[in-house]
Amino acid sequence: MFTIAIHGGAGSLTRKTTTPEQEVDYQKGLDKALEAGYNVLVNGGSALDAVATAVRELEDNPLFNAGKGSVFTAEGTHEADAATMCGRTLKAGAVAGISNIKNPISLARAVMDKSENVLLAAKGAMDFGRVHGLAFEENSYFDTEHRRKQLAKEQEKEERSNTGKGTVGAVALDEAGNLAVATSTGGISNKKFGRVGDTPVIGGGTYASNQSCAVSCTGDGEFFIRLVSAYDVAAQMEYKGASLKEACRNQIAKLTRLGGEGGLIAVDSRGNVELAFNCESMLRAWKNSRGEGSTRIWADPQE
Ligand code: ASP
Repeated sequence: MFTIAIHGGAGSLTRKTTTPEQEVDYQKGLDKALEAGYNVLVNGGSALDAVATAVRELEDNPLFNAGKGSVFTAEGTHEADAATMCGRTLKAGAVAGISNIKNPISLARAVMDKSENVLLAAKGAMDFGRVHGLAFEENSYFDTEHRRKQLAKEQEKEERSNTGKGTVGAVALDEAGNLAVATSTGGISNKKFGRVGDTPVIGGGTYASNQSCAVSCTGDGEFFIRLVSAYDVAAQMEYKGASLKEACRNQIAKLTRLGGEGGLIAVDSRGNVELAFNCESMLRAWKNSRGEGSTRIWADPQE
């Protein structure tokens, strides 16, 4: 039995402003990434490789806020955060505030595999990437017209728009029974002062343990950090015996009570999948070896 779930951000799309053509493009992007990750699992690959593969696909797709297509900082640059974690070993790798790395998730994975550290930031993380032969791109590679418009709008109004966010993530259970997670983001549009979100905070936006589950969050990052959201889902299962569904719902209820918006995807060691969120949309897809799965954008009352 194996399974994979992915997300492409929560709360970043509204029905009012999304055309049917755009919906199709987002769905295609999700399906392509899901298939790429799923194929790794079909071929006996690890959950860790499957989540990295799916996230790299989403990073390369300019529609999503990660890698190419990342939001702009207030200075017109791009600063990415990413993290990955192995549920079997509890090893983790993360990077924060990095620029010019084509696939931030590959750098997070290199931190996990090739360093003694868990979290590297800014220039040091990029130097580490250079040493380990990661692919670099000019700032302009990450630019897209729709992100530039978002930035201009926000700077004009001096307020945050919901569209200027999003994240991509994947969680998986492989045939060997191991769980893994990968999350990658451009953060929030118009961010300043080295702002870092929940994505690279292990336990905040990203967490995996074979004892419980793998979790990837998206939405208002500051809330996920304060709630230690990804770890809280795992801890509810480990200490309280909560089911994956209960644990995810409790966490989203806490997020709502605090006034935050967003969602999370999670898979447990039995292959159960949860896709929980409290806003109008969460780009999401999942598929397991029993042939079950779906690709969705909008809130669905059945979920
Ligand atoms: N969680 C991300 C951050 O705060 C943004 C998002 O997922 O919308 O950086």
